[in-house]
Amino acid sequence: MKYISTRGGAPAVGFGDILLTGVAPDGGLYMPEAWPKLRNVDRANWMPFSANTEDLLKHFIDEDFHPADLSADVEAAYKTFSKKEVIPLRRLGQGRVLLELFHGPTLAFKDLAMQMLGRFIARTLKARNQRATIIAATSGDTGSAAIAALRGLPNVDVVVLHPHKRVSEVQRRQMTTVLDANIHNIALEGTFDDTQNIVKALFADTKFSKDHSLAAVNSINFARIAAQSAYFFNTTAYLWGEGPPTFVVPTGNFGDVFAAEAAARMGVPMKRLVVATNSNDIMARALNEGVYSSGAAQATLSPSMDIQVASNFERALFEASNRDSAWLAGAMAEFSKTRSLTIPPAVLTALRARYSAASATDAETTAAIKKLYDETGVIVDPHTAVGFAAVEKLAEKLEPPVVFLATAHPAKFPEAVQKAIGIKPELPPELADLMDREERCTVLPNDVNAVRRFITERVA
Ligand SMILES: *Cc1c(COP(=O)(O)O)cnc(C)c1O
Repeated sequence: MKYISTRGGAPAVGFGDILLTGVAPDGGLYMPEAWPKLRNVDRANWMPFSANTEDLLKHFIDEDFHPADLSADVEAAYKTFSKKEVIPLRRLGQGRVLLELFHGPTLAFKDLAMQMLGRFIARTLKARNQRATIIAATSGDTGSAAIAALRGLPNVDVVVLHPHKRVSEVQRRQMTTVLDANIHNIALEGTFDDTQNIVKALFADTKFSKDHSLAAVNSINFARIAAQSAYFFNTTAYLWGEGPPTFVVPTGNFGDVFAAEAAARMGVPMKRLVVATNSNDIMARALNEGVYSSGAAQATLSPSMDIQVASNFERALFEASNRDSAWLAGAMAEFSKTRSLTIPPAVLTALRARYSAASATDAETTAAIKKLYDETGVIVDPHTAVGFAAVEKLAEKLEPPVVFLATAHPAKFPEAVQKAIGIKPELPPELADLMDREERCTVLPNDVNAVRRFITERVA
């Protein structure tokens, strides 16, 4: 497979290049040149999740990546999960299904793609005889998932910036208690936006970026989207006979829900996609009102969705405009100037044929945790609960089966859960001693030069 930029101004590249680069040189995001068509999706063709993932990903690699290596990496990635099924489904009654995506090493769905991406990156660096410094800004889950995937690997250093005192204690400890020599944690005295700005500034500094071979693993990396599309494929095949599902996706950067669109474009039947946001509702407003405009980020009970620009939405706009790069390049340039973009009617109609959207406040999220617990005894984390709360607010009635994505383990956000139902969820046994482990982390001022100096000193 070759990959092209959404903005049409960059040469096509191969799989190894999209693994190691962030945005395309023209500022766009990489997309497959054409969507592969998957074999029939039905129950007879259903396979265990890792076999299914391998079957899907073989369409996206290229001649530099051996199929046997793909197979080994997928197997190894999902062996790190605590459940044999990797992504267990749980019936909740009334045609509702909970898709548990949080049984990986850091208890959030980001492990599903990151465990694989880490292995692919290590393999590609080795084949090319290169080193890389992976740098990531995180509001909590991306950083810990990247660290868990890349700790101890040769040829790669990992620098993660999180906003000092603005991530949960469980999230912080999942990053800072990893003591491998190639892992470098920075607590930045600022907000998540400040950490992102510093990472962007370091990438924009071409000499620094080249000297340190900076690479990114954030959710604009297309390999992550491809990996995530596998669980939509797998779940639809599993529920075969009950009709095409509607998926309810707690959304921040639009990566996960776009992975569902990717699955649909590869031939996986689905009825609708529900984009569920917290009060940082840029995506709900864009789809309901037709104007994509960002405001100031607010802190909520679902911090991994506290985002004011949904980077992967550019991919959905690319497809909804029938891959009109010339229009999109202009539209994104206007958005970066004015922070606002009016979506043309034809594009909006195409988006609404696939997506519905609603947002939920913290109070509605807390009420949703309690309601589901009272009805079913199932405890969900605040991100997952945003999905349940958003569905209550939709004007339309959803036909079953409705699949709710459970994106984090409730024990990752114990305070929010305790506030809702008075019960503190326990960490799974493999993380039971997390609160007693030694931490290592450097607090730095909100200053790009301080971060630059840190990387120069620590990373060879
Ligand atoms: C990252 C994250 C999300 C949002 O996913 P996007 O792909 O950014 O839309 C939702 N829930 C949890 C727990 C997350 O970590």
